[in-house]
Amino acid sequence: MSRLSHSEIHMVHRIGWLRAAVLGANDGIVSTSSLVVGVAAAGSGPTEILIAGVAGLVAGAMSMAAGEYVSVSSQTDAENADLTRERRELAETPGAELEELTRIYVERGLDRELAERVAVQLTQRDALGAHARDELGISETVAARPVQAAVVSALTFAAGAVIPVLVALVSPAGSTSIVVAGSTLVALAILGGLGASAGGAGMLRGAARVTFWGALAMGVTAAIGAVFGVSVG
Ligand SMILES: [Zn+2]
Repeated sequence: MSRLSHSEIHMVHRIGWLRAAVLGANDGIVSTSSLVVGVAAAGSGPTEILIAGVAGLVAGAMSMAAGEYVSVSSQTDAENADLTRERRELAETPGAELEELTRIYVERGLDRELAERVAVQLTQRDALGAHARDELGISETVAARPVQAAVVSALTFAAGAVIPVLVALVSPAGSTSIVVAGSTLVALAILGGLGASAGGAGMLRGAARVTFWGALAMGVTAAIGAVFGVSVG
């Protein structure tokens, strides 16, 4: 039962790979361009800006991979522990487990007699499967893959982060902040629209939402960079 209340069912499984990829790229763009804009606003030279961007890309990708791996692994551990406990309960107290399943179906709206018949038939066919699905909320499609999730997160983050790094590389000295910020907002609007449409939501709202947070992030780091640039530089 604890499984149902725990909200740590990971993003990758809940919203699908495409949206996870879009969100990873989104993270990469926002954090790396904020870094680049902040360092550029402090009056750093092109080499420093580039180092900051590349370091941000690598650090972010590694951090995403680690976070994703830990998160998905702990979800798998929790599911396996639940299934082990359920298997033991089914072996030790099959009567109580049948009653438990029956009550679940009664709560979902079946009358007692029908719920009993459903519970008996499903128990005969695949007792653990029925309890996993209807009691614990674990379905096969939710089977977690920590390594894949980690790799996908790192790659999508890097794919997003490489955009501001490349833009910083080619933008004329002195206007790096403006050029990176502008291209980042365009990239975010496109990604936000894509992500929203993949999730079945309105493209314009998705684009506006992501662009707003990207602009805010870059605005804050630009302000911090400017303050440091004045006081330190
Ligand atoms: Zn059970």
